[in-house]
Amino acid sequence: MFKNLIAGEWINGSDVIRNLNPSDTNDLIGEYSRASVDQTKQAIAAAKTAFPRWARSSILERHAILRNAANEILSRKDELGRLLSREEGKTLAEGVGETVRASQIFDFFAGECLRLAGETVPSTRPGVSVDVTREPVGVVGIITPWNFPIAIPAWKIAPALCYGNTVVFKPAELVPGSAWSIVDILHRAGLPEGVLNLVMGKGSVVGQTMLTSADVNAMTFTGSTATGKQVALASIEHNRRFQLEMGGKNPFIVLDDADLSIAVDAAVNSAFFSTGQRCTASSRLIVTAGIHDRFVAAMVERMSSLMVGDALKPDTHIGPVVDQGQLKQDIDYINIGKNEGAKLAFGGELVERGTPGFYLRPALFTEATNQMRISREEIFGPVASVIRVKDYDEALATANDTPFGLSSGIATTSLKYATHFKRNAEAGMVMVNLPTAGVDFHVPFGGRKASSFGPREQGKYAAEFFTMVKTAYATA
Ligand code: NDP
Repeated sequence: MFKNLIAGEWINGSDVIRNLNPSDTNDLIGEYSRASVDQTKQAIAAAKTAFPRWARSSILERHAILRNAANEILSRKDELGRLLSREEGKTLAEGVGETVRASQIFDFFAGECLRLAGETVPSTRPGVSVDVTREPVGVVGIITPWNFPIAIPAWKIAPALCYGNTVVFKPAELVPGSAWSIVDILHRAGLPEGVLNLVMGKGSVVGQTMLTSADVNAMTFTGSTATGKQVALASIEHNRRFQLEMGGKNPFIVLDDADLSIAVDAAVNSAFFSTGQRCTASSRLIVTAGIHDRFVAAMVERMSSLMVGDALKPDTHIGPVVDQGQLKQDIDYINIGKNEGAKLAFGGELVERGTPGFYLRPALFTEATNQMRISREEIFGPVASVIRVKDYDEALATANDTPFGLSSGIATTSLKYATHFKRNAEAGMVMVNLPTAGVDFHVPFGGRKASSFGPREQGKYAAEFFTMVKTAYATA
């Protein structure tokens, strides 16, 4: 039984999460303990007690712990990557890649501990000096989704600890294994008791207890727009800062002048890799008329060569959908698309493999419009639609006509259009001749409109959320 970490002790919970493999639901990965409401409150209290000492801890102590964690994650990348793929269903290569990414994030923030700085500036008043410094916020509540079981926890936990905050961490119920492993690694790396607490369990129980606690000083959340709204409302109630990363309906434009092979590579990666379960996935392929038919034909040809199968098998390109609920959502949207009048050009059917798993062949719609529900609502599966447009201007207007604004991509050989698109795409991240998904860890990550709220995550911009600025005046 994998337990929760509260005040430095591994504690049994009230109930058990059975962590199942979506490639083979007969495969029980492990039993993970669900924290109760009382245990969640104890975790918050432990983080509060640990805060004053950790806030004043030596930057070298923090640096060493984060660096040691980075090293251990990297040295165990194959084992942890396999666990990740087994519990989430992304391919082994994707699972190992995500694990390496988590190591890089801890390594980056280990370095940031040593680069903490403020400024001293002259006052407008003679004889007065002004210091501008950053201080930790306090107890940070972290709630993460299932689609990046190790990278998203890493990019929230690492900066929280780096800047001197203490943490209460609730991973998604579907993927407790990777979360437990990184908490175990950080605990053994030497974190003092109470600095990092793990409370596994349901959002409606553990998550809600965190949201309604007056002792959680900041909440960082990634997940659905609906839950994000609850995080926001509860945080305003408690006068606490919050940061939300939510859905996307990311456009990928293909212009007549695009290199077809670059466009197809980027579109297939954006739409279907990681089984389309990425907030940065592209589900709207906006294609100008002159290249439309060639692009669709090339997409169908490429998609026919994609192997859907067990995430752990080396020849698999697309792993299973994460669970029955998400599979139902994907199939419902495929039916909605057909009923709305879009044409299913490829895939969308269940696939039988040797094991009971949630296998769905990636689906491509054509003749879609931007007003259809499949073009406006986040499906979060391997389902993409091609929307035909006349020219670049219509493509840009269509790309921006969405409630979301996370990532936005274009395939073009035109410097003029690439430059114009970088400036005018209404999204937090813009990609030229690259997939909409796949970002670096040392630069800001985040979106606009309904996709994100609050300061950016990752890179040195993470300090905006995980620290408070203080301005101190003194006479010389
Ligand atoms: P949720 O928003 O429900 O879950 C994200 C996290 O929030 C999980 O840890 C979840 O816990 C927790 N949570 C759920 N309800 C509450 C609550 N009332 N209070 C506090 N915490 C809560 O997303 P799902 O995982 O259910 O996915 C649903 C949809 O959200 C997807 O189909 C997709 O459209 C979108 N999504 C977007 C992601 C993104 O990165 N943009 C990531 C994941 C999902 P638990 O699940 O353990 O109960």
